[in-house]
Amino acid sequence: MTIFKKKLFNISLILTIILKVNTEEISPSVIIVGAGVSGIAAASKLFQNGFKNIKILEAENKIGGRIYTTQFKNYVVDLGAQWVHGEEGNIALEIVQPLGLVEKSNLTSRQHRFFNSSGNKIADQAIIDDFNDFYYQIDEKLAEYAKDQANVSKGEYFTKEFNNYFKAHSDLKENEKGLLHLMNMVTIIGDAGDSWWDISTTSASEYHDNVGDHLINWKERGYGTMLDILMKRFPNPEEELPVLNNTILNAEVTSINYSDPIGKVKVKTANGDLYLADHVIYTCSLGVLKDEHKSLFQPHLSEEKQKTIKALGFGVVGKIYLYFDEPWWSEDSSKISWANFIWNDKDFEMLENDPKKKWLLGLVGFDLVEHKPKLLEGWLAGNYTREMEKLSDEEILNHCIEVLQRFLGKTYNITTPSGMIRTKWNSNNHFKGSYSFRSMKSDAENIWASSLSEPIDEINPKILFAGEATNPHLFGTVQGAIETGWREAERILAMHSNIAKN
Ligand SMILES: Cc1cc2nc3c(=O)[nH]c(=O)nc-3n(C[C@H](O)[C@H](O)[C@H](O)COP(=O)(O)OP(=O)(O)OC[C@H]3O[C@@H](n4cnc5c(N)ncnc54)[C@H](O)[C@@H]3O)c2cc1C
Repeated sequence: MTIFKKKLFNISLILTIILKVNTEEISPSVIIVGAGVSGIAAASKLFQNGFKNIKILEAENKIGGRIYTTQFKNYVVDLGAQWVHGEEGNIALEIVQPLGLVEKSNLTSRQHRFFNSSGNKIADQAIIDDFNDFYYQIDEKLAEYAKDQANVSKGEYFTKEFNNYFKAHSDLKENEKGLLHLMNMVTIIGDAGDSWWDISTTSASEYHDNVGDHLINWKERGYGTMLDILMKRFPNPEEELPVLNNTILNAEVTSINYSDPIGKVKVKTANGDLYLADHVIYTCSLGVLKDEHKSLFQPHLSEEKQKTIKALGFGVVGKIYLYFDEPWWSEDSSKISWANFIWNDKDFEMLENDPKKKWLLGLVGFDLVEHKPKLLEGWLAGNYTREMEKLSDEEILNHCIEVLQRFLGKTYNITTPSGMIRTKWNSNNHFKGSYSFRSMKSDAENIWASSLSEPIDEINPKILFAGEATNPHLFGTVQGAIETGWREAERILAMHSNIAKN
């Protein structure tokens, strides 16, 4: 290199360093706590709009949070979010549909088959179809009904409707208790309470349902692809935003100190690292917030915020997938919904007194899985899920085999599954449950999810809140979580409108 070229090289190096320092100086620092879909959505939006100084701190050893797509035998399965819920105005669907990645379901209320614990179908299929149609109808009417009600639980609404229905349908008499229990469990899988008596009917009017198919599936893929799309790794990896490069895994945040009114927020992790930021977007689940807000935030959150965190509901649901080398059923797996379990009164009582097997009362049955014809998927509700999480994989597998034999053994030649995988959302300290719901307590105290979404100090927001539970109208969904990540990124963008977009 000639001396002239060397000088030119040195000057350009110095210029690059100055430019870099300047960009970092004018680019405010943002820490996002949690790399679930809301955190990933927030980071992606900020990077897309020219922000450079962003770090995501994630407690787990993977990103995605309650989107958890994992390999199981020769399929990928979703242990968390699985379906795109709804069509109209659904931003998740708007993102994925043009890429041809998802497929609508064929589900109708006439696909359910009800078996009892003696192994028989409980009535003619026409009677069961009518019963299921009735459930879908009253569920649809709930939002309208709830507009004029206060402090009415879903339990009160549904049991009143069903008791009237049973009066006119004596053929279901001997199964009334089992049917009510099943519908309670089915309802709380949607809401994640421990019982439908915990869930306020106002959730139905407050919730802005994305009308349309609620079981839009990802074909051979899983919901994890959504994360890649948000980070622009998919479909064109050359456009990837630097989200992953700026995500630190196994970094559990233990303290967020925002006590200095003019200085930066100090964020500490369990492994002793300290980060400083102008803004912190907190995205962890309401379950985590309920347990940890007092030790996490210095100073403590406002009385109003603490009241909101306490009153909003957060519960748990669970899933179990069984893999069979040779499926023993003949039903077409595109007809997802399949066998529901109705416990006879005597068996119900026996199980209630069996501490190990009690959890089976929360298992609503087994469904077929679209595009994965060797799988059965069981859904679990409420506190029974917590009981299931206490058991070993071996115990759960044995109980599943037993229950399949009991309910379906007279109708099918059931073989032994060659694999089982199940969820543990409640016992994982980074989630403490599955999703939020509008509880009777929030009704009684007139508390709404919107107050959870308010940042601390609206004029100069240093601590901002995202995550599904902060979405007043689409809580408990992926699209709801994405919206909240974008909402908080936009709040920061609005404060720093001088930052040039890339
Ligand atoms: C079993 C199940 C089934 C579901 N099915 C559907 C469905 O079919 N369709 C649908 O739309 N939605 C579904 N959902 C809901 C959906 O998954 C969630 O609403 C959404 O994924 C929540 O995203 P989030 O970013 O708000 O929270 P999270 O995904 O919980 O992200 C928060 C992140 O914070 C991390 N974290 C926690 N504590 C700390 C800490 N101290 N420090 C740092 N990081 C921390 C967590 O590890 C996590 O990664 C389902 C959820 C579950 C559990």
